[in-house]
Amino acid sequence: MSSAIVHFLAGYGTVLIIITLLYRFEYIDLIPQRNILGFIGGIWGLGPDIHHMIENEWISESIYTVHNNRISDIFFLHYTLDLPQVEAYYHEFIALSILYVGFCITITYYFGVLNREKRIKNRSS
Ligand SMILES: [Zn+2]
Repeated sequence: MSSAIVHFLAGYGTVLIIITLLYRFEYIDLIPQRNILGFIGGIWGLGPDIHHMIENEWISESIYTVHNNRISDIFFLHYTLDLPQVEAYYHEFIALSILYVGFCITITYYFGVLNREKRIKNRSS
């Protein structure tokens, strides 16, 4: 099992990259909402671990079954990040996820936020 912060940051960073790509290819401008959507992505990445918090045994076991199935990779690679091979590098993956989210924030800022401000300035002048 990976640290919760790894799951959260995997979701947060990936949503930022998706928002930046959607903006760059002019599908939809979600740059102003990037932080709240990134947060929702982080919570989504933690989704299968909710079985730790549910007291109802039947619901908890049902979620745990999904947690231990490859299908939980739709929660930003939750299954893969919980594999024993990843757990063997527990601290390294925490550091890597922090670097990953820093990279994603930089990409979103440079190609999303700054670019958006330039576009708005060009339109008004
Ligand atoms: Zn898990």
